Amino acid sequence: MSKPSIITLHDLSFKPLIPEEEVRKRVLELGEVLSAELKGKRPLFISILSGAFVFAADLIRAFDGDCEVSFVKLASYAGTSSTGEVRTVLGLDKQIEGRHLVVVEDIVDTGQTLHHFLEEILKHKPASITTVGFLRKPEAVAFPVKVDIIGFDIDDKFVVGYGLDYNGLGRNLRGIYVLAD
Ligand code: 5GP
Repeated sequence: MSKPSIITLHDLSFKPLIPEEEVRKRVLELGEVLSAELKGKRPLFISILSGAFVFAADLIRAFDGDCEVSFVKLASYAGTSSTGEVRTVLGLDKQIEGRHLVVVEDIVDTGQTLHHFLEEILKHKPASITTVGFLRKPEAVAFPVKVDIIGFDIDDKFVVGYGLDYNGLGRNLRGIYVLAD
């Protein structure tokens, strides 16, 4: 069945940017990199909710070895732009001292969310932190943040799909879609 190329969510139209097959292939590659880097270390994956839940679900299954998963909820977005303020809505439920952490972010835009979260978890003395962003908008990174592993660099445009939403819709799209001009 052919899929419509333009989709509408609420009042906005989006066009395909990264097809499902490319997403899947890249996640497997990222899993291989992490598996090699963290071999035998039983990492704790920390998925930043809500957007990263789809990516995290695929990434842990691409990880070859024992691992644990935890979730935190941070929010800085309303609609299609950042509010400039990061709120922790749901905190960590696991001990992270001495653990090898993999922080999983859906998209690094200004870098504020990741920067804020890394500051928090560093206080708890983890053994190591590997940061993974499925997407990154290189032009938009305003905060000094280290993203160790990147899925795709994209232009500074609003995207949805693969966990990312526009006011609640679009998270279930299997590929990435970008706001149509
Ligand atoms: P940052 O704090 O890096 O500016 O923003 C990170 C968060 O903003 C992401 O985790 C994501 O929830 C949201 N975000 C940033 N860019 C986009 C985008 O293009 N689309 C969507 N749906 N969310 C975005």
